Amino acid sequence: MFQFSNSFHTLGKSFYTFVTPRPLVNPKMVAVNAFCARYLGIANSTMESQSSLSVLSGKIIAEGSMPLAMVYAGHQFGGFSPELGDGRGLLLGEIESSNVLYDIHLKGAGQTPYSRFGDGYAVLRSCIREFLASVAMRGLNIPTSDALCITTGDNPVQRETLEPAAMLTRVAKSHVRFGSFEYFFYSNQHEQLKVLADYVINRHYSHLNTLATTEKYTQMLQEISDATALMIGLWQAEGFAHGVMNTDNMSIIGETLDYGPYGFIETYQPGFICNHSDHQGRYAFDQQPNIGLWNLSALAHALSPLVPKEKARAVLMSYEEKLTLSFQTRMAKKLGLQTLERDKLPHLGELFILLEKGGVDYSRFMRALCYITSDRWADEIVKLTTSETQPELAQWLHRHLQIIKDTSKDLHAAEQQMLQNNPKFILRNYLAQNAIDAAYRGDYSEIAVLQNILRTPYDEHNEHAHLAKAPPAWASSLTVSCSS
Ligand code: AMP
Ligand code: MG
Repeated sequence: MFQFSNSFHTLGKSFYTFVTPRPLVNPKMVAVNAFCARYLGIANSTMESQSSLSVLSGKIIAEGSMPLAMVYAGHQFGGFSPELGDGRGLLLGEIESSNVLYDIHLKGAGQTPYSRFGDGYAVLRSCIREFLASVAMRGLNIPTSDALCITTGDNPVQRETLEPAAMLTRVAKSHVRFGSFEYFFYSNQHEQLKVLADYVINRHYSHLNTLATTEKYTQMLQEISDATALMIGLWQAEGFAHGVMNTDNMSIIGETLDYGPYGFIETYQPGFICNHSDHQGRYAFDQQPNIGLWNLSALAHALSPLVPKEKARAVLMSYEEKLTLSFQTRMAKKLGLQTLERDKLPHLGELFILLEKGGVDYSRFMRALCYITSDRWADEIVKLTTSETQPELAQWLHRHLQIIKDTSKDLHAAEQQMLQNNPKFILRNYLAQNAIDAAYRGDYSEIAVLQNILRTPYDEHNEHAHLAKAPPAWASSLTVSCSS
């Protein structure tokens, strides 16, 4: 069975409240992430056992587990909430595997002192969306939390309609958020701020322990900033929109956390707003890099008792360059180049303008761009844009092929590089919705199919080729909001 330990609980009572999970009624396993189970050292037979189901549906507390709700604060859509915390999720404990500690968090485990007006439940729909998103992000090599499994039960939950309750077992190296530091700063518990910083350093940035005290905390901020920049640079390259970049949803190790109304860009649109509840477009796709910096500034302010202002400013000043490097490194790979030198940036800028103008599907375009050794390369690609923009796109493609030829001796090798960096499959909203609709009819097989293709989205998976096609017309009417 699971071997839990608990480093977080040693921090003391001001960091959490112990809570007993509220179990699901007649629990069933909906989906298991075998990749995640494997790296945690959990055997398939264990995941299939009744005792695992009982633990991961909140009925039994495993040996060594001390379920607790973490406290945190957060800037939500720009406004500060002084006390949020786990309102419907509990940290069960940690599992150690290959010398790494992983937090095991049970989302949907019932009310906690931080639930405010919420019921503490998660619905099956939102657990499926989070499960699939974390598989897709891992498949795209973007830092992310993982989901070990989903369980569901007979408890009905009221949202717009009655829906089945579910629990998602989330696995992440950290559940400490920017908002965790904000909580201790704004509640004037600056001693605890330091305790939390030391915990984060010991667990995630232990190489900083050799530094002098002030430098240590500055460098922790630097590490968090670098990891955040790296992550958001990859979001931008892969067309991922998080949807709710509140500071309570920002991980201090730069892993994508708390999947709600996220979306992958389909028709290329820089101002894409995936969250129907985001009326101002604060978290629009093209705002994410700025919001990352805004959130880091909020974190730096919360750390001001530990990090001098001018040092924090220097860290924040380094963010943009790191993000740009992350974005450009990934884009170079996607475009079949070694690096994206400054003189190539206008060329990339032109591409994005053309994609927007032509209403082009981003991932289908990028996948079609890979086949540079094919005679029909340009002909196939221009079909993806409107007739008015075809001549311009054809010229761009001609220039691009020349750039690849100038920089790469071997076109086949460049093609392979591109195929390994432009997914054939992305998690389109309609695919997630189909899997959810089937699950609500009791059929979990579509979740398994999507898990399979999104785990290795660069592979051909010929038997599922239809899932790489353009979305059907009804897909454009789908919306996702904060309701979950
Ligand atoms: P989220 O938008 O999922 O990041 O949630 C923001 C805050 O609301 C967090 O403190 C959550 O724990 C809390 N929350 C969200 N949904 C519920 C719910 N159904 N019951 C209680 N708390 C919730
Ligand atoms: Mg959250």
